Amino acid sequence: MALLSKFIYLFGAKLRNPSLMGIYSALKKTEFANYDELEKIQLDKLKTLLKSAYQYSPFYRDLFDAHNFDPEIETLSDIKALPTITKRDLIEQNAQIHSQQQFKKTLLAETSGTSGEALAFYRNEEWDSTNRASVMRCYDWYNVKPWDKNGYFWGYNIEQGEAKKVKLLDWLQNRIRIFRYDDESITAFAKDLNSAKFLSGYSSMIYQIAKKVNALNLKVSGIKMVKGTSEMILDAYQPEVKKAFGCKMISEYGAAESGLIAFECPEGSMHINMENVYVEIDDNKEIIVTNLASHSFPIIRYRLGDYISLGEAKCACGRAHKVIKEIYGRKGSSILGTQKEYPALTFYYVFKNIALKDEILINYKAEQFECGTVILKIEGQPTPLWEQLINREMNKYFGDDLRFSVEYIDKFETQTKKQQYFESFIK
Ligand SMILES: [Zn+2]
Repeated sequence: MALLSKFIYLFGAKLRNPSLMGIYSALKKTEFANYDELEKIQLDKLKTLLKSAYQYSPFYRDLFDAHNFDPEIETLSDIKALPTITKRDLIEQNAQIHSQQQFKKTLLAETSGTSGEALAFYRNEEWDSTNRASVMRCYDWYNVKPWDKNGYFWGYNIEQGEAKKVKLLDWLQNRIRIFRYDDESITAFAKDLNSAKFLSGYSSMIYQIAKKVNALNLKVSGIKMVKGTSEMILDAYQPEVKKAFGCKMISEYGAAESGLIAFECPEGSMHINMENVYVEIDDNKEIIVTNLASHSFPIIRYRLGDYISLGEAKCACGRAHKVIKEIYGRKGSSILGTQKEYPALTFYYVFKNIALKDEILINYKAEQFECGTVILKIEGQPTPLWEQLINREMNKYFGDDLRFSVEYIDKFETQTKKQQYFESFIK
């Protein structure tokens, strides 16, 4: 099957993504380039993108003109002269943003975010291939190829009509997936995973399956990479994942609009895919991303809606690509105290502090229905010590302004939807 899968993959790529292997080779050449070389590549690609956006996208032409912006920039930071754009712009100005340039081939991309707003756009073939090639380069860090047998943890509630199509696609991609969550299905799935090389999917789902694998005392070996996407990976997930699959969960960060932004290396650094994206952060730590390959639908200074922080570029793995230190999660509604407002990611710090200081990992979700109080849903059995620690940390950030109650949940629902760690129901 291994050889056949490789053949199917490469044959499919030839048809669908003719420039894939060329882009992949170029990316391999700059994998260990120094920082200045990487920035030089970014500047060249950015100039090309800005010029083509000005020439072919009515939206950007108007935007550049309105800001007296010359696409012939001299440094990367020159683009700070442009305003940022949001998903709302991509949806409302969709036709105007699309490039009028003729591309040999374009592929339709559709996304629906947390807010449920659907966005559709066309990617030119090179853009699509750039994304695939970038991911392929990162898989190399774990000695994994995209055609290797893999387990896929992604929405098992598939409708009857779609099941056949899903099964065919899974077969073509040498992918196995779990459809049911009972002990028998998990046991069979774990057995099948012994011949797989990597796993990917929603991090909360990988975590739930890992717990089940451990509880049932099942053995899974031979996994080289466990990749969590689309959600934050909580520290609380790692011990169970390591025990179940033999390696910790690493994180892939990106979106359909932005392409692959960063990927965690074996040394634990989230390296930015610098050859293909240019990342900025604003004063509030919100990420602003420019997708350097997005010629058919230019994504320039785009607010993805996440909070992040940047770290040192130096990494023991030898790659000079800039590092994302932390992803704090989605920009959400504010937490409302009786007097003040707090950023949604405050809860992230509360539980991070407990993890760091007290070495206790708590799986949580915060919900707010009225000002001044919040419900903390905690996975596990009632534990007075945990409540003491939570109280200590909550006090630090909120004082008397926000009260909380704890609700224990035996086990969080595995959601197929993107999970948020703070949700406000206040209108
Ligand atoms: Zn590294």
